[in-house]
Parts: sequence; structure tokens; C-alpha cells
Amino acid sequence: MNNQIYKKLMRRCFSLAKKSKGQNMPNPFVGAIIYDEEKKEIISEGFHKKYGFNHAERNAILNSKKDVKNKTLIVNLEPCSHFGKTPPCADLIIEKGIKKVVVALNPKVHSQGIKKLQNAGVEVIEGILEKEAKELNKVFIKNILYKKPYVMLKTAATLDSKIANEKGESKWITGELSRAYVQKLRSQYCAIMTGSGTILKDNPNLNVRIKNKISPTRIIFDPNNKVSLDYNVFKNDGVRIILINNSKIKVPDYIKKIPYDGNFDNLFKTLFKLNIYSIMVEAGRGLNSLLIKNQQIDEINHFIAPKIFGSGINFVDDIICDNIDNCIKLEDIKIKRFKDDILINAKIKKR
Ligand code: ZN
Repeated sequence: MNNQIYKKLMRRCFSLAKKSKGQNMPNPFVGAIIYDEEKKEIISEGFHKKYGFNHAERNAILNSKKDVKNKTLIVNLEPCSHFGKTPPCADLIIEKGIKKVVVALNPKVHSQGIKKLQNAGVEVIEGILEKEAKELNKVFIKNILYKKPYVMLKTAATLDSKIANEKGESKWITGELSRAYVQKLRSQYCAIMTGSGTILKDNPNLNVRIKNKISPTRIIFDPNNKVSLDYNVFKNDGVRIILINNSKIKVPDYIKKIPYDGNFDNLFKTLFKLNIYSIMVEAGRGLNSLLIKNQQIDEINHFIAPKIFGSGINFVDDIICDNIDNCIKLEDIKIKRFKDDILINAKIKKR
């Protein structure tokens, strides 16, 4: 068997995994295939539907109408070896006599699944399409490794990096297609976070205007207690609201108020405990700068519109690096076009 066939099968696992997209947080996206290497055919498939349900490997094994003994299992994440909501998949793989397991990603958290399989004489091949597998489960990996939400910063600026002109006017820098894509991005995150400055200036709703899509939780970062509950973002439309505020103001039941002690690690860990697994930040230069400086951003989606403002407000505005080698670097760069706007998508390299 060569890796080309495993890669092809792994891509099929990714598509199976995506069937559960949006339903299974905090669980990972996983797809699995049982493959007959002699006959060169897929004999069964499975995916992880939602939290608490059977894992993908278990579904693929149980869905099979043929004997899975001596067959190959392809799966995009290391099979589990611990009792969670369901019994360990590694045990079932061994019990059913699967001969070989091909894995894309081992997030090195438990790492016991692969060891268990190898100790039982199962051949394990690791690292097939690992990079793609990481991208698919970026939220899950951040969650289990750091007990914090995955944080994506979205910004939209002119060619000269301005998010508003000198008068503070910012509507609209990017075009319609870009804004539609922002709506789509919003629907993929557990929460949208913004700062009090944006609330006071723009009075946004921060909702998702796509049919059948649930609006994410709204998080308002207001450490200096500047906002009042009259703004649009606080209206009770069934969407959960988290207000980060240190004042004694009384808030209605549908708003959860949490304090901020100046430490972003603590803040994000608290948000994670409130089941916030991923956050899209749409803020002004204040919060953008704080988050970038404190290394809380994992990914950035930066739109560049074909305009020049000259003087105005930068999307980030703080001393980030004191010398050029010390600057924040981006990696895994992807570029998209939305008519005349350009979107740069990148991961923030950990310093
Ligand atoms: Zn499992």
C-alpha cells in the first residue's frame, strides 16, 4: 500500500467528519473508514455525530456488514483509549481484529490510544495529511491543550491599514461580498467578542443575518465600565450575552457578567468554562492591540480594501515589538479575493 491511497481515503474521512460540523462542540470532527486492502474497497464508513454519541471508529466498525477482521481502519484522529461518554475505541479495534490503523493526527494529549494498539500488535501509520487534520480540528486542539477558546481576529482596513478615517467613520470599508463572508464566519464561532469602544461608537447588533443560522454568544469587553444596557447588543433576542465588566451594575438574567482582573489567560479560561470554545473578535484598535500584544490570537482574517485614508485609526496601535526580530509573525498564509477586496488568512506564530 502506498501513502497516495491512504491520503485519498483520509480526505474521505475529512468529508465524513464535516458532516457533524457545528453540532458536536466540544467534541472533535472525526470520520473513519474500514478498508479492505486486498479487494481495494471501502467496506464501511462512520462519523462522530455529536457530543455523547458514538465515536467515528466505533460507528464505522458497527456499521460494517462485512467482517472487519484483518482490515484497515483509516481515521483522522488518534483512537481514544479512555472511558469518556462512550467506551474506548482502541479496545474495540483490538477486539475486532483490525490489522492496521492509519491516523492523520495525534494531538499528543492522551497518546495512549496508539500505544495500546501497537502493544496489541496492530500496525499503526501516523501523520497522513496531518496539516489538514490539524486545520479541521484547530478548535478542539486549542481547547484540550490549553483549556481556552480558539480565538480568531477579523479586521477590515484600507490599503494603509486604517479601520476608520480621522473622524472615526468606518462604514463601509469593505464591499458587499466581503461582508457576506464575515456573516458566514460569524456563524462558525461560538461567540463574537467586541470592546466597549466599538459598542459606544457603532452600536452594532453583532448578530448573524443568515437564515437558519443561530447567532453566536455576544461577548462585550468593558473593563472600564463604560457601556450601559441601552445599546443594541444587549437586547434580549434569545442570544446569550457575556459582559466583562467590573462595576456593580445589576444585569438581567439573560446577561452573564464576569469580572476582568487584567489577566487574559484567566479571562479566556473562565470563558471556556462557560462553554465558549471558539471566539471571533471584531473590535477596534484598543481590544485588537491588547489581544495581539498578550498573544491571545490564534488566527487572523484581515481584509484589505482598495482605498487609502491617509490619517485615521490603525487596526492595531500599540508597541508590539521593540526590535524587528521580535515582531509578531504570521504563518500558513492563505489569500482570497472578494471582488476588489483581498482577504489574508493566517495563523499567528507563537513566540
Ligand atoms: Zn473513541
